[in-house]
Amino acid sequence: MTSNPYPLGLRLHGRRVVVVGGGAVATRRVPALLDAGADVLLVAPELTPALRARADAGRLHWVPRRFVPEDLDGAWLVQVAVDDPIAAASVSAVAAERRIFCVRADDRTAATAWTPAVTRHGPVTVAVLGGGDPRRAMTVRDAIRDLLAVRLAPDGIAGRPDASTGTTGGRQAGRVALVGAGPGDPELITVKGWRLLTEADVVVADRLVPGLLLDELRPDVELVDASKIPYGPSRAQEEINQILVDRALAGAFVVRLKGGDPYVFGRGGEELLACAAAGVPVTVVPGVTSSIAAPAAAGIPVTHRGVAHEFTVVSGHLAPDAPASLVRWDALAGLHGTLVILMGLKNLAAITATLIAHGRSPQTPAAVVQEATTGTQRVLRSTLGEVAADLRAADLRPPAVVVVGDVVGALDG
Ligand code: SAH
Repeated sequence: MTSNPYPLGLRLHGRRVVVVGGGAVATRRVPALLDAGADVLLVAPELTPALRARADAGRLHWVPRRFVPEDLDGAWLVQVAVDDPIAAASVSAVAAERRIFCVRADDRTAATAWTPAVTRHGPVTVAVLGGGDPRRAMTVRDAIRDLLAVRLAPDGIAGRPDASTGTTGGRQAGRVALVGAGPGDPELITVKGWRLLTEADVVVADRLVPGLLLDELRPDVELVDASKIPYGPSRAQEEINQILVDRALAGAFVVRLKGGDPYVFGRGGEELLACAAAGVPVTVVPGVTSSIAAPAAAGIPVTHRGVAHEFTVVSGHLAPDAPASLVRWDALAGLHGTLVILMGLKNLAAITATLIAHGRSPQTPAAVVQEATTGTQRVLRSTLGEVAADLRAADLRPPAVVVVGDVVGALDG
């Protein structure tokens, strides 16, 4: 067959798609069908655990037996994902008889439809057919994916508000995204966070946001450095809220980029409320939080089988005896699990003394991880009793996370 395939985007929502086979190929094909909203009927005597989980969750219908022609009743499309060429041929024969397009994993030449290599970028789907060579399709797809992720998105492919027409006539409604930038390594932002960043008209960034992420912004993006806003901490927050609201009301897509996760000691909630009060739509994109990533970067799992069945993340920015403190340090001292303290360097001596006074052993392993996941990461290992003094001696500085518990050292050989 030398003629070219005819590309189509099948709108499968609520439409029956039959998948024959329950092995590795079906496991790879089914998620995209479910994502398209298809009504998936899976015909296979046995399923992989991943497919089984989807069946158990009611996401698809499973008939635990071999294929019979009636399985194609009402179907719009069939995917044959079995190795046995005779079984596969019999399915495609029934499909052909009924004029149902049939994808065959075992034999591309016998198939009436091919699945392309796909990359998705927000609302855009790019599908590549390699003229019968799946490897060629994947190579081209990978190249396009890289281009979309790094360069092309800002120029409109990702559907950002049309800046060229936005200034005259009625303004477009703006919006705000609160995006977690991750702990420090620029590659630890989420795929969604990165996409929104490439679409932004205005970026309001924190001090702890990885600089390299900002390096790649288009020159016309307005970058507001939130850490340079003067006034005291609460006044500065009001100022930031105002900037988010003003820019969005003027029609801009504003990305508020925050270190780690926006809702972990990041005041993301206040920003969300300020936008909501002004009628500005907000989305929140979670981030990789330093409270888990910083220990991990130092080789410390926050939980470990047989060692810790809990971890508690706590802010140390107030001393334990400060009247405004909301933390029950006495109760935390009674826990066996992992304690992760953020913003705790200044008050560490008072914090460790309080934990010990309420019963946590001074021998409990402790570690401090400074600038985790960056090129300047430093790690100090110590004990609860000595970590405050060791910290001063080693001259560690913020941003740093303190980890207390037997998980420190759990992975040491
Ligand atoms: N929202 C952030 C935390 C903001 S509070 C998050 O989810 O990670 C700021 C504190 O986070 C710092 O004082 C420090 O304790 C911690 N922190 C942030 N980035 C860090 C990093 N790369 N290494 C160590 N600690 C970090």
